[in-house]
Amino acid sequence: MTTTEVINPATEEVLRTVELCDEAAVDDAVARAVDAQRRWARSAPAERAAALRSFAAVVDAHVEELAALEVANSGHPIGNARWEAGHVRDVLQYYAAAPERLSGSQIPVAGGWNVTFNEPLGVVGVITPWNFPMTIASWGFAPALAAGNAVLVKPAEWTPLTTLRLGELAAEAGLPAGLFQVLPGRGSVVGERFVTHPGVRKIVFTGSTEVGTRVMAGAARQVKRVTLELGGKSANIIFDDCDLERAAATAPYGVFDNAGQDCCARSRILVQRNVFDRFMELLEPAVQGVAVGDPRVEGTEMGPLVSKKHWDTVSSYVPDDAPVAFRGAAPSGPGFWFPPTVLTPGRGDRTVTEEIFGPVVAVLPFDDEADAIALANDTAYGLSGSIWTDNVSRALRVSRAVEAGNLSVNSHSSVRYSTPFGGFKQSGLGRELGPDAPLSFTETKNVFLAVEDAVSEEL
Ligand code: NAD
Repeated sequence: MTTTEVINPATEEVLRTVELCDEAAVDDAVARAVDAQRRWARSAPAERAAALRSFAAVVDAHVEELAALEVANSGHPIGNARWEAGHVRDVLQYYAAAPERLSGSQIPVAGGWNVTFNEPLGVVGVITPWNFPMTIASWGFAPALAAGNAVLVKPAEWTPLTTLRLGELAAEAGLPAGLFQVLPGRGSVVGERFVTHPGVRKIVFTGSTEVGTRVMAGAARQVKRVTLELGGKSANIIFDDCDLERAAATAPYGVFDNAGQDCCARSRILVQRNVFDRFMELLEPAVQGVAVGDPRVEGTEMGPLVSKKHWDTVSSYVPDDAPVAFRGAAPSGPGFWFPPTVLTPGRGDRTVTEEIFGPVVAVLPFDDEADAIALANDTAYGLSGSIWTDNVSRALRVSRAVEAGNLSVNSHSSVRYSTPFGGFKQSGLGRELGPDAPLSFTETKNVFLAVEDAVSEEL
């Protein structure tokens, strides 16, 4: 049996040793899931709704425990981790309404009746990254279960603990055995087997664009459905007519949340040239004011990076001669700490084009609206972004022109469970969350029923 040690990134201590699944374990899990799914799909919609509400209630009763586990495993600040656990509950509650609302449609045709059914796919494989382990898992498993599917989740190697606990809580809530299984393991073993196993009918993959491309290519061999949520290099565009104080005060939280390990991180700040210097003056104290430290302490805003390996990657973007404008604070001693870092590189620098996935932001000047849009779109990614302006027409024009799936005006909000989430271009394929998510876990079946004409009588 292969095992892996799970490390607390704030202390570097070993938290737990986790057994990793092999291919045979995946095959067994798929067989159990196929069986459980058939019964689940046949059960009454109201029964499935009630089961999801019970799961939500059990998660709610364990919010503090799940949050503490995420603090220890991922180094998320306790306030953030509590929000994440509560978000899993809310996502389950929201999709608990879906089983009784997947109503299909009736379409008028000649010669009979035509109705459509939203049939479940069967078994869905959810592959998650390490940055938001439980929330991202719930975006896949909640709507998939609601639509009548069974779900297998493979958490990331570094951060499996909260997902494993959610698997136990699902059983405690009374979800049928085999319907929702968590399979910790390597991407190259468990993840690959999800892709190659013909019994897994859809892959929901969240992670890097590199691995997502590979998953999509593998899935193509079986015309397997995929949803991909991949990388980002989002822009925070600051126009000279905005509330510059607010834009500067909030910019650090648009990029340094979760230590920048956020696919929606606004890791490029684009500032209109005539207010660039003033913006930088305002940004400096805001960056230095980010509370970086022990993630268990209430009020901490930023914890450590997830691992030493990731710390090395992020550090490689800030060599000694990097164009550092200023940096925030970070603790010394054990833990994978990295201070919030503000760079002023040239447009072609790799810190401007590559996803760093750490607390490093590039600030660049632009000349006018057209230049801002061109610069914002000069990336292979297209996940999110922010637009700061007090001009409503400009806000609408620029929102329509930026090629990204999730934009916010005068705010950095990206994720609400009731609104769709996903990327343009190489940031992904398909959408999660929002009212339509369960439909992406169904096939539309069309049925025509011929109706014979009545024996004609005089009218
Ligand atoms: P990653 O691609 O290295 O790994 C993601 C998952 O894929 C892990 O569970 C991993 O074990 C698995 N995996 C690895 N190789 C595989 C293979 N050959 N087949 C199947 N699965 C395999 O990504 P990561 O480093 O864990 O996460 C960071 C990345 O995720 C960033 O690029 C970030 O932008 C992205 N992300 C995107 C979103 C979004 O919603 N768009 C959200 C969070 C993170």
